[in-house]
Amino acid sequence: STEWSLASRPEGMPKPANFGKKTVEIAAPKDGEIQVKNEWMSVDPYMRGRMYDRESYVPPFQIGETMQGGAVGRVTASAHPDYKEGDLVSSMMGWRTAWVGKPEAAMVQKLPDVGLPESAFLGVAGMPGLTAYAGLLRVAELKEGDVVFVSGAAGAVGSTVVQIAKNKGCTVIGSAGGPDKCAFVKSLGADHVIDYKKAGGFAGLVKALKEASPKGIDVYFDNVGGDHLTAAIEVARPMARMALCGMIAQYNETGTPVGPHNIIMAVGKQLKLQGFIVSTHADMQPAFFADMAKWIPSGKMKFEQTVMEGIDKAPEAFMGLFTGANTGKMLVKLT
Ligand code: NDP
Repeated sequence: STEWSLASRPEGMPKPANFGKKTVEIAAPKDGEIQVKNEWMSVDPYMRGRMYDRESYVPPFQIGETMQGGAVGRVTASAHPDYKEGDLVSSMMGWRTAWVGKPEAAMVQKLPDVGLPESAFLGVAGMPGLTAYAGLLRVAELKEGDVVFVSGAAGAVGSTVVQIAKNKGCTVIGSAGGPDKCAFVKSLGADHVIDYKKAGGFAGLVKALKEASPKGIDVYFDNVGGDHLTAAIEVARPMARMALCGMIAQYNETGTPVGPHNIIMAVGKQLKLQGFIVSTHADMQPAFFADMAKWIPSGKMKFEQTVMEGIDKAPEAFMGLFTGANTGKMLVKLT
């Protein structure tokens, strides 16, 4: 197996030298183990958090150890009663081309044959999709008729948020970087798009949001933080709900990040700001699958992916998340 580990902890934006490649022999499975050849691996923004040596909701990556992450692959040999050669499985054994071990320890799930491409289980029908679903429907308590603002709207989570909100009868404002991404967000059904790079910071975002929805917003789904969050607070209607999903604008920050200067508005407007972690909402998985099984075949849930070919490209794919190299889900194809 070809595998990637963290060679050193990045300071600021990750660099190629922060990653180390190695080759590992894959043994035959022992009792209770399976051997898997990975076909796809995911790179996700949260992995940047695991590169810091600090306590968080997932433990930090250790220097020299193969990193973890979402992957989809096929069982190539099995010494486990529940798995057989050829089974399609997802696991947390990304950043490598093959592995052997106990499925329980690798968080293996057998994937259903529902006519979706395998890679969809790392995106729209996987962790990012459930993040959008739980964050919008449960954390932000979405209601029909809401005006929803979502940042990072051309990404894996954001593009799903746009469409769920449209499917639930809401007005959607999406922000993304650059005209191509904005056109993509529009093609997903968003009513208004904001090119945040052109808008230019807090004041520009507020102006664009007021143009899109003069009466303000009811829901903000935050993927970005920073100026986006501050602008959302500024234009929020009384009792608006904000699902704080991620704040990618500050993942590579080396100084002290600046908080929303207008947070005092949260008092008078009685805003609800709630952070969340997708794994806490795993109980929504059946409802999520049921809705996706309706929406995807009927064209009400489109999904785009940006694919880099080969395990050698994994660090580049990961670093690309922070430069906006992806439209839709960023993936690495391993075979
Ligand atoms: P995306 O597919 O959205 O990829 C990241 C995108 O972020 C880039 O394409 C880029 O788009 C945008 N971006 C990068 N840097 C900046 C910046 N400085 N300012 C504004 N936008 C930036 O990733 P995901 O969909 O996987 O994740 C989206 C968010 O959701 C992240 O914050 C992530 O951490 C979070 N998340 C949280 C989970 C949870 O459980 N809470 C689970 C999964 C994801 P552009 O070109 O438009 O700038």
